[in-house]
This record gives sequence, structure tokens and C-alpha cells, in this order.
Amino acid sequence: MIAHTPTIFASVALVATIMAFCLILVGQFNLRDGLLTSGCGLLAHALAYVCYTLYGQAPLWLTYGVANTLLAVALAFYSIGIFRIRVLPVPWLHILSLPALMLLSMALLIDTREPRMLAASAVLVMQCLLIIHWARQHALPGGRAHLLLIIGASISLLGLLVRVAAILSGTASEMQYDVSNLKQTISVSLGTVTVMMLSLGLVLLSKERSESTLQRMALRDALTGILNRRAILEQFSGELERARRAHATLAIAMIDIDHFKQINDLYGHLAGDEVLCHCVSHLQQRLRESDTIGRYGGEEFFLLLPDTGTTGAMTALDDLRQSLTESPAQFGDLSIGLSFSAGIWCGVPGPEDSIASLIAQADAALYAAKAGGRNTLRLAQTAQKTPGVVPHGELGTLG
Ligand code: GH3
Ligand code: MG
Ligand code: MG
Repeated sequence: MIAHTPTIFASVALVATIMAFCLILVGQFNLRDGLLTSGCGLLAHALAYVCYTLYGQAPLWLTYGVANTLLAVALAFYSIGIFRIRVLPVPWLHILSLPALMLLSMALLIDTREPRMLAASAVLVMQCLLIIHWARQHALPGGRAHLLLIIGASISLLGLLVRVAAILSGTASEMQYDVSNLKQTISVSLGTVTVMMLSLGLVLLSKERSESTLQRMALRDALTGILNRRAILEQFSGELERARRAHATLAIAMIDIDHFKQINDLYGHLAGDEVLCHCVSHLQQRLRESDTIGRYGGEEFFLLLPDTGTTGAMTALDDLRQSLTESPAQFGDLSIGLSFSAGIWCGVPGPEDSIASLIAQADAALYAAKAGGRNTLRLAQTAQKTPGVVPHGELGTLG
């Protein structure tokens, strides 16, 4: 089926205008979601196609030169959109040099036919390849939006390659914007698919970014960046189940900074916050890859040590305790010394052991550590019943 080429241009312009309107309307309320940038791209896209519809009726500099420059500007906006949405620094030079190159080549080659067509196609091909590259590079883990961007840019490439093939085979006249034939119909119609795919891809990318930010906020502690109480307990639940099934040892520790209130009272809450961050980064640096730390409460941290026996857990915790006392936190000119106490449960979890019961036992051991003078460790009593653990007398108390 052969369609009237200027009519297809007009329909692409209409689709792009509608999409631009939607994105600008939504995007203006939240400049950080990148939708306004994408909407501006669609507007430039629509204007380019309006100029194409005038081909043969208005000067060539407008219907070819300005039109193709506007299309290059649109693709540049889409590229900027990817970086804005992903909150990454925009490579302005790479992105803006291509519309500038388009403007320059149109200014120099407007009176030629094949060279100007080839130059315009070459710039647009480069831009589509860059969009594909950036969409792949900056895809969100587990996301799908980048696929739409890649498909949209690839379809655009296909349309451009049809044009380049026609120009190189000496039938450039068939690809003039006021000529209607099958090749033109295919090449220009693909513009609608490109507009739809790119705009939907950018909207979805923005949605995926917001979702991953919200997910991160829901699972991470805002001050220290480690897992929050909900997330560490979820992880604990998984590890507990795994250890139960595999009859593997599991160690948990409830860590509480000693006399933390005094630090706040003496140096202020900002210093207290710094001490918390210092404590977390100190612990994180010394934990194994398989161990996980989460913020259980104000100055309480929960440590999960899979496949760890009593000796290993007590030694690891005592190393952490010892090294932290030797590493004061820095707050401005202040050097703030700190220590922690910890209650540890270790063993092979059985059917009677639940998250609540194990935490209660670690908590009771922590309470005993506090009562025992602080800056010390206590092993929960029930862990002694577990086969393979070190007798209480040997490692029950450290510090
Ligand atoms: P103990 O040795 O018995 O654990 O005494 P403590 O002073 O550490 O414990 P307490 O429970 O009396 O005080 C904990 C303090 O931690 C009280 C609370 O204001 C403070 N806190 C909780 N969360 C934060 C936080 O995010 N930042 C700061 N700066 N302080 C916090
Ligand atoms: Mg506490
Ligand atoms: Mg405390």
C-alpha cells in the first residue's frame, strides 16, 4: 500500500505533538523526572515533521535544512532525557555536537541533493546508535524500559538505512519528501513507531527510576545507607530458613553502642550521627562478603553471619569490638572514642527457633553484656545446647 508521503509526515507530527503535550504537562510538575526534556524532544520532532510536510512548497532551507536540524535536536533531547532520568552527568559535548554538525552540513550542502541526503542520514544514524548505546549502558537493573528505547532507535535506523540504500543505488529522487512510493511509505511510517517507542521508553525509564529509588528508600537506612530494620529482618528470615533446611550453623549478633546518649549530650546530635556512620563503615569494612549488617534501631545494629560457628562468631565480633575501641570517630577537630556491647546467638536453628525467639535470646545476651560492664560480648545461653558449639566457659564471655 502506498500512502501520500506528506500526509504520513503530518500524522507523525500529530502523534509527536500529542505525546509532547502529555509529557510536558506531566513533566513540568517534577523537573527531576526528565519528562520535560523528553517532551521538548517530542516537540522538536513534531516541528521537524511539520517542516517536512511543506517540502516543495516552501524554501529548501526550511523544509530540509531546518527540518533535519530539528530532528537532530529531538534525538539530542531524547539522549539528554536518558541521562536526566538516570540522574547522571550529561555528556553535553557528545550530544550537542551532532545537531551542530547537522546544522553545519545542511548550511554547506543544502544546494546539493545526494550529499545533503547522505550527510543528514549519517548524523541521524550516529544519534540513533548513541541512543542505543546509552540506553543499554544506563538500563536499570531488572528494568525493561531501555528495550523500548533500543527498539525505537533501531526502527529509526531501519528507516534511515532504507533512505541511504536508495541514495547509494542512484534512486535518491524516489526518497524526496514530496514523492509517494512504497519505500517512502515504509521509511516515513516508521517515524510513528519511533516516536511512540522512544516516548514510552523514556516515560517507563522515569517510572523505573522512581520505583528503584522508592524501593531503596524503603529498604535502606537514610543515615548510614545500610539495610534498615525491615530489610535486615527479611534477610534474616531467608537465612534462618536456609540454615534450617541445610542444617547449617548461623550466628546473629545484636550490637549496641555504649553510652551513646552521652555522646549526643556532650557533642550534639550531628556528632552522634557521625559516630553512627563511623561505626557502620568500620564494621562494614571488616565483615566478610557473606555477612550482613542492618540498623535495628537508633544505635543498635543487627549482624547476620551465615555458616558461622560459635568460635568464628565470637572471634569476629571480638575483633570488631577491639578494633572499634582503637578507632575513634572524627567530627571536625574532635576525636570521639566509642565502644559497643553485643549479644550473640549461634547454632543450627531448629523448628522451634523463630526470628522473634532468636532475637529475644540475642537481646537477653546483650542485656547481660551491658550489665557486665559494657564493651563486651555475651553468648546467648541456649546456643550452648546446639551440637558442635564451644562450651560456655571457653567463649561465653569476651571483652
Ligand atoms: P547504653 O550503653 O546502655 O546502650 O546507653 P546508651 O546511652 O547508648 O543508650 P540509650 O538508649 O540511653 O540512648 C540511645 C540514644 O541514641 C538515645 C537517642 O536519642 C539516640 N539516637 C537514636 N537514634 C539516633 C540517631 O539517628 N542519631 C543520633 N545522633 N542519636 C540517635
Ligand atoms: Mg540502645
Ligand atoms: Mg547504647
